[in-house]
Amino acid sequence: MGVLAVYGVKDASTYIYYGLHNLQHRGQEGGGIATFDENGKSYRYRGQGLLSEIFTNGQVSGLKGYMGVGSVKYANASSAGPENVEPLFFRHKSGNFVVAGEGNLVNSRQIADYLEKHGTIFQTDTDSELLAHLIKKNYNEDRIERIVKALNMMEGGFSFVIMTRSRVYACRDKYGIKPLCIGRLGDGYVVSSESCAFGIMGAEFIRDVQPGEIVSFDENGLRSTLYSRFSRHRMCAMDYIYFARPDSDIDGCNVHAYRKEAGRRLYRECPADADIVVGVPESGLSAAIGYAEESGIPFEMGLVKHKYVGRTFIQPVQSMRELGVKMKLSPVRSIVNGKRIALVDDSIVRGTTCLKIVKLLREAGAAQVHVRIASPMMRFTCHYGVDTSTPEELLCSHRTLEEACKAIEADSLGYLSPESTRDSCFGCADPCQACFTGEYPTLLYDDNIIKE
Ligand code: SF4
Repeated sequence: MGVLAVYGVKDASTYIYYGLHNLQHRGQEGGGIATFDENGKSYRYRGQGLLSEIFTNGQVSGLKGYMGVGSVKYANASSAGPENVEPLFFRHKSGNFVVAGEGNLVNSRQIADYLEKHGTIFQTDTDSELLAHLIKKNYNEDRIERIVKALNMMEGGFSFVIMTRSRVYACRDKYGIKPLCIGRLGDGYVVSSESCAFGIMGAEFIRDVQPGEIVSFDENGLRSTLYSRFSRHRMCAMDYIYFARPDSDIDGCNVHAYRKEAGRRLYRECPADADIVVGVPESGLSAAIGYAEESGIPFEMGLVKHKYVGRTFIQPVQSMRELGVKMKLSPVRSIVNGKRIALVDDSIVRGTTCLKIVKLLREAGAAQVHVRIASPMMRFTCHYGVDTSTPEELLCSHRTLEEACKAIEADSLGYLSPESTRDSCFGCADPCQACFTGEYPTLLYDDNIIKE
């Protein structure tokens, strides 16, 4: 999922619309924009599918105002459905407001139980709705105090943007698992899940929102509040490895630079006797360039990606995923025929894509396919909103390296170590790698039992 908010700019919805397009890779199942105009009148339009399928008929220009919130969503099994598409709009006598978020709470069940016991009825399955109800529970208190209290009840990896008639708040989880950054846009401001949204909007990067920080924007400018004294820098390693766009900078580290460095280290740890290095488009390309540079083996465009086919990883149904793999890549026969290939990809989740790519390359005449993965073996479920599936579905949760190699029908298989995954990141000293190592940065809740 991706969030974006603008404050203090005429025709805010147009900027949000273009900025959201640069966050489309974070979610393709739905999206929307909500705004407030100068008189406090609210506007919202949202729908399912890609932004280009939702905003088909000039709806953006009808969203008036100088401030707004946008969202793109990918659905997992529990959050599909139009009611869960954000931003969400809430009416309240203390003032109407809008919420959008990304990530996942690990204690959402506990918070929902608590709220239901106090009479709350829910319309969605979203954490954003939980936040809205928590904020409004003590509405006689100062608003920032209510947001601070609400966020301190929440455990997990998340970012939220909240918009009232006069202000935008941007909040990042205290572990710093989810990215969120601030830019300058004319006389106003923008916050975004990734800085790659800023270029198309004409915005200038200012800084990342810090873990445990609430940044607010109003007519007096930017204000920062720390809602928790506990703060860590455990940015999601998978954002660097797979999710984020290469032109984004997250916590001081450019994503392309990260992937290239991971590719260099991957060669040092897992060299391959190969004639060419082929990267799996798109998120494997940067690591493949690094692998080729370090090894001296030529980098070749042995696979071509078909445009306009969604990312296989974020489609919620297995049958759609398998169809997507067949549709999205073609081998370049004249390049791969007769060659020993070092095939570099960012990660392997279920192994479905990797197996099909190995087969495609062999059918195109590749003599050998040595698969090299620029991240560690994924063995554990993510609890912070990345749909990495259940452990049973993960290729490596119950297989040795040799068994995984056999399952994807490769000549050899090598993974980057957790140490190099960490050290490739020059911005975040200790990123979350829980889906590789099983060491979760937060508490985990199983029903009402707290696990440490
Ligand atoms: S568990 Fe994996 S996917 Fe989830 S936040 Fe941590 S690194 Fe990212």
